[in-house]
Amino acid sequence: MRHLPRKQLASAAALTFAALAAHAEAPYQFGATPGKLPKDVVPVQYAAHLVPNIADSTFLGSESIEIDVLATTAKIMLNVDNIEIDAASLAGKNIGEIKLTPRIDQQQQTLSFHLEQPLAPGRYKLALKFHGLINREARGMFHVNYKVGNADKTMIATTMEPTDARRLLPSWDEPSFRAAFKLTVDLPAHLKAYSNTPIEKQEKIDGGLQRTWFGVTPKMPSYLVVLVAGELERVSAKQDGVDIGVVTTEGKRDSAAYPLAVSRDLLRYYNNYFGLPYPLAKLDQIAIPGGMNGAMENWGGIVYNEAALLYDPKKSPDSVRQTTFSINAHEVAHQWFGNLVTMAWWDNLWLNEGFASWMSTKATDHFHPEWRPYLDSLVERENVLNLDARKTTHPIQTPVLNELQAANAFDSITYGKGQAFLRMLEAYLGEEPFRKGIRAYMASHQYSNTTSADLWAALEKASGKPVEQLASDWTTQPGFPVVKVEQVCEDGKPQCRRRPTRNATASAAP
Ligand SMILES: [Zn+2]
Repeated sequence: MRHLPRKQLASAAALTFAALAAHAEAPYQFGATPGKLPKDVVPVQYAAHLVPNIADSTFLGSESIEIDVLATTAKIMLNVDNIEIDAASLAGKNIGEIKLTPRIDQQQQTLSFHLEQPLAPGRYKLALKFHGLINREARGMFHVNYKVGNADKTMIATTMEPTDARRLLPSWDEPSFRAAFKLTVDLPAHLKAYSNTPIEKQEKIDGGLQRTWFGVTPKMPSYLVVLVAGELERVSAKQDGVDIGVVTTEGKRDSAAYPLAVSRDLLRYYNNYFGLPYPLAKLDQIAIPGGMNGAMENWGGIVYNEAALLYDPKKSPDSVRQTTFSINAHEVAHQWFGNLVTMAWWDNLWLNEGFASWMSTKATDHFHPEWRPYLDSLVERENVLNLDARKTTHPIQTPVLNELQAANAFDSITYGKGQAFLRMLEAYLGEEPFRKGIRAYMASHQYSNTTSADLWAALEKASGKPVEQLASDWTTQPGFPVVKVEQVCEDGKPQCRRRPTRNATASAAP
């Protein structure tokens, strides 16, 4: 998600986590992935129709969800939060259509249906009608108020990670429940709407509204769904067959030229690095005038606070150019690390965030070695070493039991230590063997999920070195090894020798 500015990184880590004993993690297996939702019913495709009432800060919704029942069960459970269900039914070959009674557990953020007769394995269709809120804060769908001259304007946007998709769509809102999404939205006809995929069709309907049908997404986690609408304009260009756009509120075209050029360069660079071309037809970089900090890497429709994306060559200082480049590079890297291959559960969030941070520095060094991004990253590394020497630190891979812990996992250990560790691992394995391993990892896990064990296996195979043995100690334990040396005089000559070591976490920071 959002690439946090360094100041926030420093303060976000003062959290208490229980230290994990080092353990061997298993490769990704859907059934063994942590989470609250039962694994015997899975979504295949959501067709969702949303009708936002922007003036009223509410929305109406309906969904038709194709689900697969994998094992006989009399219960269907998914997630909702701050949504009320108005009607529910289930249809299938052997059951016809039956009405369902929703049971919402607000604390657990779940929606359950208990059936009188168990469902046999097979394909069913769950139909829901519901209504919810357009939020003031950036959770689920939210509105952003801004001014153009003296005129007051309002637009809407969404941001879901980690667990707010359930505020817009009743959904299996855990990252290993990948499914396709197909959105339809009714909005005032003068507003432009953007989602993960290109528009398939638009039609004027009653009440001055326009209905917009978006294309179907690849199978993806729910936290990557996006919808943005407002009085917007878009500049675009084709790169490697992909329609790249920068979307802004009106009158900001001049500031969109730089991020558009950067996005084209990054897409070409990442297509080449990963050996797997960006898989969607379009990639929009959407700048919104407030409402959220940083950025969110929704597949095909990345949303940024406009300060993190736009660059006005006439007014912005060069430091803005560097910052926006680095954030853009982080979010576009997520289209592979995170979107194409997703961590199985939030305990492995570093597979998204550590990697996107590392890749951003690598891409910045490729295009702008004169900015010395690796030298800059040392500042962050020192900051993280300092935090990691405290008793309140936690391992890069950290247990996550609930929604709050998932949100708390977005801290400097996940981003900064994850990045520094990957840089060290790349240096140890060699740039080419490391890339070969990453390419194999992407190719074999695309449109699926992983644990760190899957990464170690790919790197081990590509490099011929014992990666798991070395790497898992770094990701499953807090702190870092400290090697102390001292100079002594032997036979009249100065000699360096090692002093006994202690784990930096166990000993307070010097
Ligand atoms: Zn990120």
